Amino acid sequence: MSMPTPRKRILTGDRPTGPLHIGHLAGSLQNRVALQHQYETFVLLADVQALTDNFERPQKIRDNVLEVMLDYLAVGLNPDVCTFVIQSQLPEIAELTVLYLNLVTVSHLRQNPTVKSEIAQKGYGDAVPAGFFVYPVSQAADITAFGAHLVPVGEDQLPMIEQTREIVRRFNHLYAPVLTAPQALVGQAARLPGLDNAGKMSKSLNNAIFLSDSADTVARKVKGMYTDPGHLRAEDPGQVDGNPVFAYLDAFDPDRSGLEAMKDHYRQGGLGDVKVKRHLTDVLEATLAPIRERRTDFARNTDSVQEIVRTGTLRGREVAAETIQAVRQAMGLDYF
Ligand code: ATP
Ligand code: MG
Repeated sequence: MSMPTPRKRILTGDRPTGPLHIGHLAGSLQNRVALQHQYETFVLLADVQALTDNFERPQKIRDNVLEVMLDYLAVGLNPDVCTFVIQSQLPEIAELTVLYLNLVTVSHLRQNPTVKSEIAQKGYGDAVPAGFFVYPVSQAADITAFGAHLVPVGEDQLPMIEQTREIVRRFNHLYAPVLTAPQALVGQAARLPGLDNAGKMSKSLNNAIFLSDSADTVARKVKGMYTDPGHLRAEDPGQVDGNPVFAYLDAFDPDRSGLEAMKDHYRQGGLGDVKVKRHLTDVLEATLAPIRERRTDFARNTDSVQEIVRTGTLRGREVAAETIQAVRQAMGLDYF
């Protein structure tokens, strides 16, 4: 009798800085739901990482752990196959971070393109909190703690995976080959723009449609969306590219040929924004109504949600404990 091959492991997760939005749905959640039966999935609620740029607001992070858990369960991440883990409850991750910090240089961290652009965006300059500056190292700890083989990411997150692979390479070379080098699983989904089209949709920029928004709120937000500013009258030809209304339809309208016909009509002129927006509201509602319903059900029973995340965190800790034991042994830190 042959043993079943163990499924490969995936690590995913989010910073609990706010409830999740339709950008997350298109960009990562739908993919996770599709992959959860094929891979052993660990979903990390990265509260420690969220604190690196929110350390003055710990209550906000604490509150959003539940919000993000509700979003996860509402979109169909299944606790029977996914392990949900609260990062701060695993001291093993903090320990790995400290040990890995020796394996990277400040100059190398400074060159990380993702961190570089975030430091600029947040206007930190040299006053960047040290914890924020080294978060790629703590991500390496997250990924390797669970022995993840695969990490689904967007294109912009590739430097993080590369940093992890470098740490793994150095560690395995210096001490003993105990760490798993992860592969990036690059998602194809485009970044959803914000309602104002000023940048990407983001939890913290007040430009998002949240999975938890009511039907009325969704309709109101769609009504107020940016569209082609040159499309003043319905008769005018309109721009589809760079128009967030069509970007959302691209992400969620299941009727692809209907959508192409609508785009042609809009480009030619004769199709008003009010009509397109009404269609978008219907499309979003078809997607969000079942999610909202499940979310409301789970929100009525937060005890069971607590239990799901508690069980997951305990299981995650067992896995991380195996890793830290191997790491300590490899480094000769196993004194007693
Ligand atoms: P914050 O405002 O706190 O930075 P955020 O909305 O930018 O929050 P993150 O937690 O930074 O969300 O993003 C986590 C992951 O979610 C990203 O790596 C990406 O995969 C996905 N994601 C976030 N925003 C979008 C978006 N607008 N479109 C598609 N995917 C997104
Ligand atoms: Mg972000």
